[in-house]
Amino acid sequence: MLDRSILETAGEGIVSLDARGSLTYVNPAAAELLGALPKDLLGRDARDFWVQSNCYPQVDNWSKLPIQQIMDGDIQLSSGTAAFKRSDDTQFPVEFLARPLIVSSSLKGIVLTFHDITEKLEGRRALEESESQFRELSENSLVGVYVIQEDIFTYVNPRLAEIFGYKREEIIGKMGPLDLSSPESRTGVKTNVEKRISGEVESIHYMIRGLRKDGTKIDVELFGNRSLYHGTPGVIGTLLDITSRIDAEGQIQYQAYYDTLTGLPNRRLFNDRLDHALKTADRQDQKLALLCLDLDRFKQVNDSLGHETGDALLRSVCARIQNTIHDNDTLARLGGDELAIVLERIEGVEMAAAISAQVLALFEKPFDVGPHKLFIAASMGISIYPEDGETGANLVKHADAAMYTAKKQGGAAYEFYRPAMTASSAEWLELETALRRAVEQKQLRLYFQPQVDLRSGKIIGAEALVRWLHPDKGLISPIKFIPIAEATGQIVEVGDWVIKEACRHLRNWQADGLTIEQLAINLSGVQVVRGDVVDSLRQAIEETGIDPSMLELEITENSIMEYTEDVQGVLLSLRNLGVSLAIDDFGTGYSSLSYLKQLPIDKLKIDRSFVMGIPEDTSDIAIIKAVISLGNVLGLEIVAEGVEKPSQRNIILENGCHIGQGYLFSPPLPAEEFTDFVRKNRLTDDTSGH
Ligand code: C2E
Ligand code: MG
Ligand code: MG
Repeated sequence: MLDRSILETAGEGIVSLDARGSLTYVNPAAAELLGALPKDLLGRDARDFWVQSNCYPQVDNWSKLPIQQIMDGDIQLSSGTAAFKRSDDTQFPVEFLARPLIVSSSLKGIVLTFHDITEKLEGRRALEESESQFRELSENSLVGVYVIQEDIFTYVNPRLAEIFGYKREEIIGKMGPLDLSSPESRTGVKTNVEKRISGEVESIHYMIRGLRKDGTKIDVELFGNRSLYHGTPGVIGTLLDITSRIDAEGQIQYQAYYDTLTGLPNRRLFNDRLDHALKTADRQDQKLALLCLDLDRFKQVNDSLGHETGDALLRSVCARIQNTIHDNDTLARLGGDELAIVLERIEGVEMAAAISAQVLALFEKPFDVGPHKLFIAASMGISIYPEDGETGANLVKHADAAMYTAKKQGGAAYEFYRPAMTASSAEWLELETALRRAVEQKQLRLYFQPQVDLRSGKIIGAEALVRWLHPDKGLISPIKFIPIAEATGQIVEVGDWVIKEACRHLRNWQADGLTIEQLAINLSGVQVVRGDVVDSLRQAIEETGIDPSMLELEITENSIMEYTEDVQGVLLSLRNLGVSLAIDDFGTGYSSLSYLKQLPIDKLKIDRSFVMGIPEDTSDIAIIKAVISLGNVLGLEIVAEGVEKPSQRNIILENGCHIGQGYLFSPPLPAEEFTDFVRKNRLTDDTSGH
């Protein structure tokens, strides 16, 4: 038997009916639902409130009171939806359950439980209304709208189909989100759809690359929301084609990270890549090499052939390097003619050296730049991670220092970083900056070192040697600043100053009645290839009115060899001005005899390093002998540099070299002291009776 208190307090309406359908029990909830008191309901026929309704069109099937079927034993249980009428004649929908009422084993009637489903039906109606609103909105929407259920699009709007180049019916019910994603975006799309369906995230906003029917890729931005559609869960989302926006952003991104001249990564992107490469190297316990590369004398190309040619040369240099290095390695332009290469997964120093040599070899062939075939060399510095630095900044700094060392030693070479370099490269930079002012602020000085006839001791000439009187550092040796001036192109200005100054002194001495038969001026190879040196010299000679035969130009053997292509013509033009030519530091380079023969030279200066070795070093004596006899064969005069001891003078003289220069006679002297020295020499000369 039913427990009465349960019935009385139940939230559901519960009534019992006898076999004829009259109410025999009504619980309070039922009475309330029916809008009457229980006592007024008892005995009434259930069919009084059980109506056939059509008030909710979404209900297809309104049940009849199933009392007959249950009493007949046809069914044991019946459930369904019915419409009940309240005592005020208003209707409300219910879901009901009808069961037989059995008392003492005999069927006495039925028990009916029911509850009001107005809200449920209203909700469904609201949903349907909202669905139709959704459709109306989305059908005309300018953005793509989609519904995904169980990995299939169950709805897409016309705009979405248009974005992807399909007909709607080709998508709906047939395709899933992965079919509209390009391969690289598929994993992302898959996990995002799963996340939303599983409820891990309610909504999501992201970008993917989409795939159109014609195979083209587009950038789309989507916003998806977990939702119910037709009462079942799915994802409803909107989608925008942002390809043109991405293109514009890409353009901006490109400009921020790439060098527009060469298309290479710029310093910013290079730093990013280097950082990334360092992390990888660290994780995988691997080495990495950083190469800094700077073109030698690039400034001259710009100055003499114009910036457009310079730019084109740079582009073709970069292209050549790019073709040589591994795809994974980064070539970047850090600025000007400064390039850097990150070599990942380097096994050791040897491998870095091999690649550097390969890059350097690229400069052996000329670069085609418009109508020009240009030769240019490069200096490279290498630092290795982790030995030479743990951070990108340090590696760059150290590779740079190594590069400057290579440049100082004449360029066209690579150098590995050594800790001692950092100090000197900082100094180099400082000097480079200060040197820009040195000429205009009159900080350069010309010193003169006498050249002596070894037989008579008579001064027959002098060599002009430049010094830099730095306001803080004092006198700086040309050994220190000439290579800087050469590397930066400032040598042209310095060299022009030296030529003018030397000519001016010659004229002044002449005016003072002091005859210096010959003054030698050092020329840098850089000055020679530039070609203007001929003009500068002609101008200085004309302005001072000196006899050009009083001038001798010294050019080192190494620079002659380095610039073989252009040097010969210039030397000829210089010679045509009436000056004589000497090869300086002879013996330190690799000039061939046949080549020497072709040059319009007058004199060889035996390098100091050979003189230094005598009398002890017999091979130095042999070399000196060889140079002297070579000079004799070619009809060239020979000068020995760096004569410090009488024994050296004697040996040189014995072997047929008649001119010497060195501390034995005098160090280089400032102009005043030099003229005093010459006067004294003439005096002793006169008293000695020559
Ligand atoms: P260089 O032309 O071979 O000049 C000779 C160098 O040897 C000078 O050094 C001179 O001071 C030094 N010297 C001379 N006699 C002796 C000696 O007995 N013992 C020793 N130990 N040294 C001696 P400096 O003046 O320092 O010049 C060094 C180099 O700098 C020059 O070598 C030359 O290549 C370059 N240089 C100097 N002045 C100029 C210049 O006006 N233009 C260019 N382009 N280069 C210059
Ligand atoms: Mg010299
Ligand atoms: Mg020399």
